[in-house]
Amino acid sequence: MRDIEGIPVQTIIQKYAFVTAGGCGPCRMGMYATEYRKALRDAGFGGFRVLLFTRSGDIQDVLMDGLQLTKIDLIRFFFAIIIGDILNLVNIRKRPFEIETGDVDNKIIEARKIIYQGIEKKQWLKSLIKARKVIKSIKIKNETKPIIHIMGEFWAKSTDGEGNYNLFRFIEKEGGVVSNETVTDWLLHQIWRARWNLKQKRDHKIISFGEIQLLILQSLIKVFFSFIGLLLGEKVHLSNHGKLAMDVKPFFDIHVDGGEDHMEVAHHIHIAKNKLADLIISVKPFTCLSSSSVSDGIQNKISELYPSVEFISVETNGDSATNFYSRIQMALQKVMTHKKITI
Ligand code: SF4
Repeated sequence: MRDIEGIPVQTIIQKYAFVTAGGCGPCRMGMYATEYRKALRDAGFGGFRVLLFTRSGDIQDVLMDGLQLTKIDLIRFFFAIIIGDILNLVNIRKRPFEIETGDVDNKIIEARKIIYQGIEKKQWLKSLIKARKVIKSIKIKNETKPIIHIMGEFWAKSTDGEGNYNLFRFIEKEGGVVSNETVTDWLLHQIWRARWNLKQKRDHKIISFGEIQLLILQSLIKVFFSFIGLLLGEKVHLSNHGKLAMDVKPFFDIHVDGGEDHMEVAHHIHIAKNKLADLIISVKPFTCLSSSSVSDGIQNKISELYPSVEFISVETNGDSATNFYSRIQMALQKVMTHKKITI
């Protein structure tokens, strides 16, 4: 913006902010925000706001205390996350079946641009309908492929790029379809956690005002998600976090929080019970305490109970991508001969 668009530094500092997820504590991720701030200061952007979602389960944190947000801003913020999630889902669902290489990526970029411009002009509804036409113009093959579900540490599981050695595209190249978890789902889990915390604190049976507020927020997000999915022509699904918590209780103490909390184990059970994937890959950066040390310790038990779904856990350490790929390739080999599912 400074170098290409010529926007003065002070304007950039005043008008923009970088919003990202904060670490859950035990690893190096908690240090990233400090590093971002240092890099910005060294690049001449001292004072540029780097804001974090924390995941303490407190309602103020869920609603991003620290940034002066009006209710309208908050709705816009959730709205942007939901649209991003749905476009990402369209991308990974359609890309393995595209007829022309690069068609899906290009159409998604085009759709994103249309929506971006539409929101700027306050014509979001019109822009979503226009984007839907672009998405619908993607031509796909009628094929069957095994479904590979990606879970794990929040960033490693959701990024479609270098952060997980381009795992999504690697799976597609090897003949699988990626199934992934959304940021909206993670937000809903945080809202569930905040509600659960409030419920633990109350000493009477009557539901508190805070819980009601969270319940309304949760319902609004779900309705919005389905509505935008409908507008963009994609059938989308969000987890029932109350049910996930109930199912995981015999295996995971839901008082324990950190990283994905009990969600990795709970999703494994849900996927296995409902036969939603052929293979689950749990991916995390080296040293992720909550995913590697806590969840993975329990996942073996779940694999024993539900052997119909293959499960592997991989870390993206700095050693080499080759080890990472070879472990995944071995697991993929097993499911390539399994049942095949059409998306
Ligand atoms: S989830 Fe894992 S990698 Fe992420 S901040 Fe927590 S410990 Fe670190």
